[in-house]
Parts: sequence; C-alpha cells; structure tokens
Amino acid sequence: MTIRDADDDSGLPGLMMDDLPLTTNWILRRAATVFGDRPVVTRTPDGGRHRYTYRGMAERARRLSGGLRQLGIRSGDRVATLAMNHHQHLEAYFGVPGMGAVLHTVNPRLHAQDLIHIVTEAADRVMIVDQALWPVWAAIRDQVSVAVTVVVEDGTGPVPAGTLPYEQLVAAGDDSPLDDVVGHDRQAAALCYTSGTTGQPKGVMYSHRSLVLHALAEAGADSIALSARDVVLPVVPMFHVNAWGLPYGAALHGSGLVLPGHDLTPVGLLTLMSETGTTLTAGVPTIWMGILAELDAHPDRYDLSRLHTMLVGGAAVPAAVLQGYRDRHGLRVLHAWGMTETTPLGSVAHVPAGVDGGPGPEGDYYRLSQGRPAALVEVRARGESGLVPWDGSTAGELEVRGPWVAAHYYGGDDDGKFTPDGWFRTGDVVTIDPLGYLVMRDRTKDLVKSGGEWISSVALENALMSHPAVAEAAVIAVPHPQWQERPVAVLVARGAERPPDEELAALLTPQFASWWLPDAYRWVEAIPRTATGKFLKAALREQFRDTLGGAEETGEVR
Ligand code: AMP
Repeated sequence: MTIRDADDDSGLPGLMMDDLPLTTNWILRRAATVFGDRPVVTRTPDGGRHRYTYRGMAERARRLSGGLRQLGIRSGDRVATLAMNHHQHLEAYFGVPGMGAVLHTVNPRLHAQDLIHIVTEAADRVMIVDQALWPVWAAIRDQVSVAVTVVVEDGTGPVPAGTLPYEQLVAAGDDSPLDDVVGHDRQAAALCYTSGTTGQPKGVMYSHRSLVLHALAEAGADSIALSARDVVLPVVPMFHVNAWGLPYGAALHGSGLVLPGHDLTPVGLLTLMSETGTTLTAGVPTIWMGILAELDAHPDRYDLSRLHTMLVGGAAVPAAVLQGYRDRHGLRVLHAWGMTETTPLGSVAHVPAGVDGGPGPEGDYYRLSQGRPAALVEVRARGESGLVPWDGSTAGELEVRGPWVAAHYYGGDDDGKFTPDGWFRTGDVVTIDPLGYLVMRDRTKDLVKSGGEWISSVALENALMSHPAVAEAAVIAVPHPQWQERPVAVLVARGAERPPDEELAALLTPQFASWWLPDAYRWVEAIPRTATGKFLKAALREQFRDTLGGAEETGEVR
C-alpha cells in the first residue's frame, strides 16, 4: 500500500485568504485610514511648501483615477510621467496602478532618442509632465504618439496650448473607491526602464504583488526599518525604480514623506531635512558627497537631530563618506545594493550579531560591503567553473531570484540576462562570505555609472568609430572623485591623423546628452583584446584608472 497516489502532489489546501490580491490599493487604503493624519510635504517650484496628509493624498489619487477613466484610460493602459519628486507624482503612484493602468516613470535625463524609443515601446497613452520639464517633452512629442499631455502646473504661467492642466484632470474625477478595481496581483502596476548593456534601454514591468511585498520588506529591522515614527525624504528620483519603492513603503508603514521637488542642492535638501524632522533619507553616493561638504563647511547650520539613517545605494559608498558622516557629524550611513530589475531592494549592509556596533574596522567591512540579501531575495555567484563557494574570496557573477526580481524584460528581448533555471544575472561580480555578505568586485556589464545614471559605452564607441580618423574606440569607466565614474574614450588612429578632443566632442554632441560625453580622450597604439577578440576593458580600466583623479575608496577594498 502506498501513502498517496504517485501523481497526487497537490497537498492539502491551506485555508487562508490567499486569493486576496496584494495590490497598491491595499497600501493606499491603509495610508488613508490608519495613517490618515501622517504628513506629506513637498517643496514647491516657488520654494514654498505644499502640505497635506495621506488622507488628502488618497482622495486626490482616487480623483486622478476617475479623471483618467474619463479620458478613456482602461486597465492595462500605460500612463507615463516625466516628473520629479512631488505630491502630484505621488498621487500618480497610487492613482494610475490603482485603476489597473500602468505607471511608466520616464527618466528626463535620457537623451531624446532613448526617450522616443521607450515612450514608443511602452505605447504610453497619457504623458503627465512637470511644467519645468516641458522642454524635454517638447523636443520629442511630435515623434511619439501619445494621445494626451497633462501638465503639472508650476505657477510660472499658463500651460502650453493643447495640453490638459493636471489640476483640471484631478478636479474632473470622482472620488469613488478603488478597492476592488484590480482583481489580481500579478497584473502590471508600474514600468521603469534601465540601460541595456547592448544599446537601448530595457523595460522592467513591476506587478502589484512585487511592489507590495517589496514595500512590506522595507520595514524589516535588518532592511530599512521603515516605521510610523519615520519621516522619509527620498532624494532618489521617483523616475528611478519608484524612488527605491520608498513612497509605497512609507505609505504602507505610516512614515511621513518629504518630497524635494526640483531642488536637489545640498543646501535645499539640508534645509528641508532640518525643518521637517526627517529621520531617513535615501540617494546615490554623489548626493551624499555634496551634502557632506556642506555639513563640513557649516556644521551648526542644520538641525539633523532626528536623522537616524542615510540610505546610500546605486553605486558603492566611499569609505570616506560613511566615515565622514559618522566621525564628524554622528550620522549613520546605511549601504544597500539593488537594481531596477530588483525593485530595487537586493541587499542591505547591517553588521551581523557579535560584531562591535562601534566605529571599529571590522564593523566597517560589513557596513561598506553590499550587505546581506534582503528577506525573500536569494543570491548565488557563478564563476568560470560553476557556482562559487561562499568563502569571501572567490568572485563570480551575482545571480538573484525572489518575488520582486524581474523574470523578463518588457518588449521580449531578455538580453541573455536570465539563467535556464530562472535566476536573474545581474552583471555584477561579487564575492560572498560565509555569513552571506556580498562585496562587489567588478561589473561584467559594459556601462559607465556616473552620479547614479548609466552611460552606454557601446553607443559612444559606435559614434566615435564613425569618425574617419578613428579605427577603434573603447569607452571605459574611470574612477572620478565627484561622479564616482566618468567615461574615458581610448582610441586607435586609422592613420597619422589624431583629431583634437574638441572635434570628437563635436561629433558626439548632437547624438548624446552632454553629461554622456567622455571626460578625456586617450590615443593608444592598440587596444588589448581577449582570446575571443573582444576589447579587454579590464586592462584598459587598470591602465587609465588615475586619469581623472581617482575615486574615494569603497567597500571593494577590504
Ligand atoms: P540601476 O538599475 O540603475 O539601479 O543600477 C543597478 C546597478 O548599479 C547594479 O547592478 C550595480 O552595478 C550598481 N549598484 C547598485 N547599488 C550598488 C552598490 N551599493 N554598490 C555598488 N554598485 C551598486
């Protein structure tokens, strides 16, 4: 007698409410009721403050849904934003997915060609654009087919002709509940593009479920520990991986939100933090370097007595930044690793049990590492001969999986980024130590990350090689004291002519955003190659690593 039929692997059904969909509407409902009085403060374009509560935000988010429905937007339609961090953008974070549509947050720093590509691929039906970002949209709007442009007014004058003022859209909508509008949580909620390694940006399509689970995880004590006692100021833009999911996490856990609008200067941010009693703030290292310099110059000007965590990610935190905040200002930097494809919370660098929490060097190894995987995120690293041991010294490409990790790219081209057994290949080279701490050693992806934004080496190389005097071009990431990395072009001449830097820059200028242009051009006799004939960029990076003054030491150096 067998205990069960061989083909019966269904198990005994659980008797829980597993069919209740985990949607952004859960978050909105909780924010509007349990945390209805918690504040949302925005720095307005005129330098003033807009204040309301989650209750007020939720009502306007619902009205936005109603207004969009009146425009003919239906479940699954894409609604794009070209916007900074402010309360209207927050309303779109809930109002768009809350009605079943998909919020496509567009990065205004991208070049026009990339913007055209992503708006076209996403088939955006509505574009909600900040009046201050109007020139970015005006440059491409005739080359894409977006039915309606909505302008978030900034008080500087009438909105451009042929557009709908945001306030009018919200006023037109009714305040009907969104509770049951989204029927299942695998439905798409948000779309964000990231740089493809071989050229065009790639879309990551977040489901409701992934956003909710990610927001839940942000409250973990060994994660970001968001709570109802926090006031969160995301400096990371809301067009970058949903501002690291902080708007959803803050609303779910009742943290107040402070949104800096268009003013990302150190003085503007520090003033806002002091005045709102910010407890947690988040951004890329470049931001924190500028703020540290301002604090060093004026240590008594700002009241940061409530600030307990400065979350830093998107690039490795320099040791001098982490230690400078701690040693000179008593402020804690919390380092985390993540990607657009991981929503982005991947790993967080808290010290483990048994390690002195003080300023000792042992603790700093952990604080400067990329941290341990967040709950529900699994990691492994693959070297040339298979998965590497967790010994802290054998490096391999990091692979991850988990319920908020992308399974595919939007648009169908998976770019070789997923393993046959369903893990996402990050393109980051790490070691993993016996306690599960990741330390980033290198990147396999051929990109430059400057101040938190990607620059495509391949695109620059192709453009440079179109110059008749250039036989070969390799663009590499070189350490830079302010931007962490900047592009340097290494060139081989076709003949005797070596065109001056200005001529090469002039060739690139019409095709790329100005911040993409290489900081230096270097001529060599030959570019070293791998056995398969590819440029050996690691050797070039080593050769030219001091070209731009170097970078601050990061956790890569133990
Ligand atoms: P993005 O998709 O633009 O957020 O970029 C993700 C990539 O940024 C990662 O794959 C890493 O290469 C890099 N990155 C993110 N966080 C860190 C970190 N804490 N340390 C080093 N690199 C990081």
